[in-house]
Amino acid sequence: DSSVGGPMLWPSDEPWPVCTHPHKRSSGERIEDVRLKRRIRAEAWRRTPEPGAGPGPTDAERELLASLKRGRHAPWLANTDPIPLLAVAQLYRKDVPDLFGGPADCDLLQVFWCPFDAHGTGHQLSLHLHWRRSADVLEVLADQPEPVVVGAPGYVPDPCVLHPEQVVEHQYMDLLPDRLRRRMEKWEGPEDEREDEEVGYRSDLSIAPGWKVGGFASWHVTDPVPMDCECGQPMEPLLAVASYECDSSNGSWVPLEDQETLEGAIGATSVLVGRDGTLYVFVCPRDPGHPHRLSVQ
Ligand SMILES: [Zn+2]
Ligand SMILES: [Zn+2]
Repeated sequence: DSSVGGPMLWPSDEPWPVCTHPHKRSSGERIEDVRLKRRIRAEAWRRTPEPGAGPGPTDAERELLASLKRGRHAPWLANTDPIPLLAVAQLYRKDVPDLFGGPADCDLLQVFWCPFDAHGTGHQLSLHLHWRRSADVLEVLADQPEPVVVGAPGYVPDPCVLHPEQVVEHQYMDLLPDRLRRRMEKWEGPEDEREDEEVGYRSDLSIAPGWKVGGFASWHVTDPVPMDCECGQPMEPLLAVASYECDSSNGSWVPLEDQETLEGAIGATSVLVGRDGTLYVFVCPRDPGHPHRLSVQ
């Protein structure tokens, strides 16, 4: 299925992607602890509290949660030993009509990342894109590898199937032509005078929050930065990996079927990027072989 967090349609006779970039990989949280903590918290907040007890985890659960600590849980790993990448998402063109780029004969995009912020000069995230022809996969790798330890728990996605919906987006406000931008700003009125429930261009009309393919990128953290490929071509946002599907300011984008159970839908994947931001993956529209670039907003 098209999904977040796997399992991937990965051939049993092909090596699973790994990170060999030199960085520390022996310390962090055990991936099994990350999942256990989420399960305990989810169950604790879901149940009806015992008479006299408050909502949330019991004392015993709190003790258990506090015992699941970061540490040197994989002391056998040297700094360049290959560690399996985590499955982030796989998207079929048949499910996601706006999925673009990639070799023309490939119908499946598979996205992986290393669960450590330790790549390049700025302690960056390392993301891998694989395009493939799904028909070529005869036998699927049954036991899909995972790292034992992760640097940041927010890189461990909870598996979700996807139900993509097509929406229309518009360019980020600051990148609109000057005259149009000034008209939009006048229509919106000064930001400090606007109420949360008033419809705004930035939050409600231009750029949808949440995981998405295509559309426009938001630049509210860094202000717009030109994203040009090394070949000179302006790059386009292929994928947005979001920490939340929406917040109180942009709830207008929530699908109708999710509005009743909004809390479950807001952070369904448990992914956290850049504290609570969105990771945009930009690709070259001219050649899928050119390296992608990332922006966290
Ligand atoms: Zn790495
Ligand atoms: Zn290029």
